[in-house]
Amino acid sequence: MIKNFLLDLIFPRFCLGCKKELSLKQASFICEACLNNIVLNSGVECHVCGLRNKNVRNRVSNIICCRCRKKTFLNGLFAAGKYQDPILREAIHQFKYQSVESLKKPLAELLIKYLKKENLIEKLQMLEARFPTFSTVLAPIPLSRRRKLSRGFNQSELLAKELSPALSCPVINLLKRQKFSAPQAKIKDWQQRKENISGAFTLNLNLKIIPVSDDRQLMGQFGNIKKVILIDDVATSDATLEEAARVLKQAGVKEVYGLVIAKG
Ligand SMILES: [Zn+2]
Ligand SMILES: [Zn+2]
Repeated sequence: MIKNFLLDLIFPRFCLGCKKELSLKQASFICEACLNNIVLNSGVECHVCGLRNKNVRNRVSNIICCRCRKKTFLNGLFAAGKYQDPILREAIHQFKYQSVESLKKPLAELLIKYLKKENLIEKLQMLEARFPTFSTVLAPIPLSRRRKLSRGFNQSELLAKELSPALSCPVINLLKRQKFSAPQAKIKDWQQRKENISGAFTLNLNLKIIPVSDDRQLMGQFGNIKKVILIDDVATSDATLEEAARVLKQAGVKEVYGLVIAKG
């Protein structure tokens, strides 16, 4: 708190959208009007080919069209907005690279607003009776130790924690980043992105995989994990989320979704 107060005295804060000065009471770096101006995506589409899919009205597990299913480990990828939106892009950038922690609230609110608008909250958390509660978990995309130390926080983890009460799912760090790869955003080529991230994630060690009848199940301290919602700030290509989903699927998780603020 004192740190924030001192920072305000030294650096008066301006809205990252309209550049108007913000009052000391405004906790984030964006004003209400600019936040409301960010255009949210509408309709849910297959993230592989971009085809609108109306099946989502009934079942969230049918988002990917048949011909694309073999090309992805994700059961669906949801993005609140577009990375091309200048204000949204600036907000994510400040959150991530300038370590503006207070942006986590408005950005998480944006995601929740989008999920509510598309009626996705209940569909994503829908549990099956034979599974215990908490069979759906939120898993942030991890940073390498080195990057987390230099940034001070993992932006995906902060977002996941903000989303957790709204989605009524616990946040569990299911994955660990084991190699220091170059930042995906700096690599333009899709194939190179895939190679850069390949092998980057492993399961967190305090989880174990147990055989349940003929099915493998990922077991955490919360019981069987059936559905995982991966949380990341942005998906410029789907390479990072795909790689994380691949590791989880191989461990026995049945459904893996991606949820990001913006998609490029
Ligand atoms: Zn503004
Ligand atoms: Zn498709």
